Amino acid sequence: MSSAIIIGVAGQDGSYLAELLLEKGYRVVGTVQPGESGSLENLANISERIEIVVTDLLDQNNLSEVIGGYRPGEIYNLASQSHLLTSLEDPALTGEISGLGVTRILKAIQTTSPKTRFFQASSSEMFGRQPRDVPQDEGTPFEPWNAYAAAKLYAHWVVASYRRDHGIFACAGILYNHESPRRRPEFVTRKITRAAAMVKLGLAGDLPLGNLDARRDWGFAGDFVRGMWLMLQQSQPDDYVLATGETHSVRDLCEEAFSCVGLDYCDYVAPGTTDFRREEEILLVGNPGKARKFLGWEPVVPFQELIRMMVDADLASLRNTR
Ligand code: GDP
Repeated sequence: MSSAIIIGVAGQDGSYLAELLLEKGYRVVGTVQPGESGSLENLANISERIEIVVTDLLDQNNLSEVIGGYRPGEIYNLASQSHLLTSLEDPALTGEISGLGVTRILKAIQTTSPKTRFFQASSSEMFGRQPRDVPQDEGTPFEPWNAYAAAKLYAHWVVASYRRDHGIFACAGILYNHESPRRRPEFVTRKITRAAAMVKLGLAGDLPLGNLDARRDWGFAGDFVRGMWLMLQQSQPDDYVLATGETHSVRDLCEEAFSCVGLDYCDYVAPGTTDFRREEEILLVGNPGKARKFLGWEPVVPFQELIRMMVDADLASLRNTR
């Protein structure tokens, strides 16, 4: 029986990946951070079918015990403080978890279970503010411009070094934004879909936002976890960009989300009322050509369908709590 450890199983990506691996017949062990065991709502449907263990990415001995104890076929590292602003509130901790934590996992694999295959969730943030190429691909130079992106890039390069120098089957996916009904509300997609649902149900009257012209390459998290799994099924380890290759603006998002509930976003959205990274003028859009060619990976859920899925889920959950 195939087996996997998902580090950071309680988050959006961890929960989708756990579902995918269970469907494929894996034994799934999921790790949560110390103190996190209370917030497992993303795992509600599968909690009986996975094993949860508490691990600490700051603690080398603990990681070695867990990884050496299970010696799984695959390990996926999806643990990170993924929202940029939250991660920057404590940049040193971000470096510890998103950067050094990955070195500790790789060290534990090397010393206790060197045949285990490893996936690392790298980030499009590593390309920085002014990427040389639009769209970006695996050959675009990295130029991280904050502590979060720098920590992710440190981890990305450590993955490459363990692959090259220690023969570990280690892959990194350079992931563009990927969303779902399980996205936390501090991200703009979920902020907007939730607000559209609340306005529809008479629970809110308006939606303060930042820059409506900011653009992102938004995909569906369920598609992305399939790409992660595919990377670990190849004969050779490598790094791949996972992205849709299309961008939409925050304005498009508003228009789409409010039209799902039969409303015009212009009547509710107050742009420029939060100073949310107003100055930002980056064009992050990925070229998933390599993943398409070598993994046969395609993002299946288009933008409109993703937003509708999120609005419908928000409507359903708000109706349930009323
Ligand atoms: P990330 O910046 O790609 O990690 O993801 P977010 O979902 O937080 O932000 C996506 C884009 O939406 C950024 O360009 C933000 O500046 C823009 N944005 C505009 N208004 C808001 C807002 O009120 N909240 C958030 N989170 N983002 C906003």
